Amino acid sequence: MSIPEKQPTSASVDIGAYEAWLFDMDGVLTKTAAVHAAAWKLAFDDFLKRDAASTGTAFVPFDVEADYEKYVDGEPREDGVRNFLASRGIVLPEGSDDDSPDTRSVEGLGNRKNDLVLEVMKRDGVALFEGVVPLVSELRRRGVKVAVISASENTKAALQSAGILQLFDAIVDGHTVKDRHLRGKPAPDSFLEGSRMLVVEPGHAVVLEDALAGVAAGRAGNFGLVIGVDHHDASATHDYADQLRTHGADVVVTNLGHLLG
Ligand SMILES: [Mg+2]
Repeated sequence: MSIPEKQPTSASVDIGAYEAWLFDMDGVLTKTAAVHAAAWKLAFDDFLKRDAASTGTAFVPFDVEADYEKYVDGEPREDGVRNFLASRGIVLPEGSDDDSPDTRSVEGLGNRKNDLVLEVMKRDGVALFEGVVPLVSELRRRGVKVAVISASENTKAALQSAGILQLFDAIVDGHTVKDRHLRGKPAPDSFLEGSRMLVVEPGHAVVLEDALAGVAAGRAGNFGLVIGVDHHDASATHDYADQLRTHGADVVVTNLGHLLG
């Protein structure tokens, strides 16, 4: 496969040149999408079995690949519930966000899925992308500060499950975002909060992101370097790497280990 001209390479990154590195979690450090897909499947299949039994129809399970990608991936939880059930011709009452996980409502089923995320993390663990531990360990060895910046309220549980929670000097998670009224990406708020917690000027910090809104947030915050992380299959990377650059990435890597040169 040919590599486009002018593509910045990881070899051009001097990893000791910055005081702090701010890592997005899902898709950069952890393969959390697999956990969410498994939790959605458990929640929906349980619901669909009961629905089939009560209506006398056949149980057709949630497809962990096709249905996940089409209806729930990247969507807010309630939209995921509505979208998928609509594809089966099922409409539930909205309910309220304190509905118990057994309540037959959009919010209840969403809460069930959230409980299952934590159960699946405990049951299966959370997988890390290749190169994560070597890179973060090397940064720590050099005295560079490292933080995780994520909108997920399950950030600490996921890092704990993946066995890397203790490697980080600071965590900005969904609770921080809520408590401190931070705007979501592409606003730079959560990354700026991370650099503030580490007492490092944004210009002396690196942002690592796999989402287009995330690299845009790094650019908007005037960070010293924005690294786009493209963990898609090699065959699919070219378009996405280009989009990461267009949205603000200075460099795109397909494996964090490549940053070690
Ligand atoms: Mg991400």
